[in-house]
Amino acid sequence: MSSSLITDLLEFLSESTSPFHAVAAIRKRLEQAGFTELASIDEVPLAAGHGYFTVRNDSSIIAVRAGSGAVAEGIRLVGAHTDSPNLSVKPNGLIERDGLTQLAVDVYGGALLNPWFDRDLSLAGRVNFLTREGALSSCLLDFKRPVAIIPSLAIHLDREANSKRSVNAQTDILPVLCHSTPEASRTDLHALLEAEISRQYPELDLERVLDYEMSLYDSQEPGRVGLYEDFIASARLDNLLSCFAGMTAIIEAPREHWSVLVCNDHEEVGSASAVGAQGPMLRDVLEGLTTNGAASRALRDASWLLSVDNAHAVHPNFADRHDQGHGPRLNEGPVIKINRNQRYATSGEGAALIRLVAERAGVPLQSFVMRSDLGCGSTIGPITATETGIKTIDIGVPTLAMHSIRELAGVKDIAYLVGLIGGFYGRVG
Ligand code: ZN
Repeated sequence: MSSSLITDLLEFLSESTSPFHAVAAIRKRLEQAGFTELASIDEVPLAAGHGYFTVRNDSSIIAVRAGSGAVAEGIRLVGAHTDSPNLSVKPNGLIERDGLTQLAVDVYGGALLNPWFDRDLSLAGRVNFLTREGALSSCLLDFKRPVAIIPSLAIHLDREANSKRSVNAQTDILPVLCHSTPEASRTDLHALLEAEISRQYPELDLERVLDYEMSLYDSQEPGRVGLYEDFIASARLDNLLSCFAGMTAIIEAPREHWSVLVCNDHEEVGSASAVGAQGPMLRDVLEGLTTNGAASRALRDASWLLSVDNAHAVHPNFADRHDQGHGPRLNEGPVIKINRNQRYATSGEGAALIRLVAERAGVPLQSFVMRSDLGCGSTIGPITATETGIKTIDIGVPTLAMHSIRELAGVKDIAYLVGLIGGFYGRVG
């Protein structure tokens, strides 16, 4: 397994502290690989073999590798999502209590809240501001240092903490930002953001901050863990690991075939948004690639979408949460996700195709089915399939601690996933 692939992934995760930063990180790597950014994919005639991409809301991105044949002969698409559960700062962001200044936060997506306590937290996102010329503008901002912390309540003040403690999202998880000095209490969050922007971008034409989408993240760097470094521990593995694998594979995808990578925001909150998988972004790109209705129907029928999102590996302490015959293990290959109730989009035909791709690419595969007595999660696969009518296969890398502030994946599975997507783009199956 290539250690440079793992180093690249760790660097990508470290840069991608919000969906905006994830898209910036993908944009940078696509540009370095010679891809051209377009406002819309039908802006210019696409040159065979060349790569293009388009971005919306700074948080969703679609890349296209133009093939040499007719697009109606079919495209191989890979989908993933750029967002992860987190704590998001509310509009009136500062609260003063008991000598401390705190941040007012909301929970974004299905975050596992307990692991957010006692971590050194930083802030990242996008800030919208007014320029001195009176125009609206925006910039990405990442404090890149621990600026907040949510201290646990000591066990002495809650003797039942280990058996009964639950987390109230409104009252229990407000991070502490600083000691409330008279000086600190005169400021507001806009002024703090303005000061940080001026520090990071001294040349920026900033009059004042108007609004922001800032969220907290764990400042501990992603890293390899385990006695033999068998694992990767990081925030946002769901689903930046899949974005990274898709990006790596499309950069290396064969020039003769049509390949697409779709990385949407807002999956963790249901995908119904202007730039989510249920929005029109992918449809607009596909329409831009075809010239008429017949071509677009031919494209739909001849294409396959691989929807890549992490899967639950068996947790050895909680093995009974899995169906005994369908418990994926770390480091033993990507997982085909199957749910006959269409919580996952994989059909028998799709599973057969990806099994063949895996076999020919030399990648082991595992199968996941949720326990019949537990509700099944979902992902962008069924939503994109519904929106586009393209046959879809749901797969993903097995992970532990999904939606925690620090998730765990197997090192070998990264290369397996890149190999599998590479084989899918390369039509080995
Ligand atoms: Zn996910």
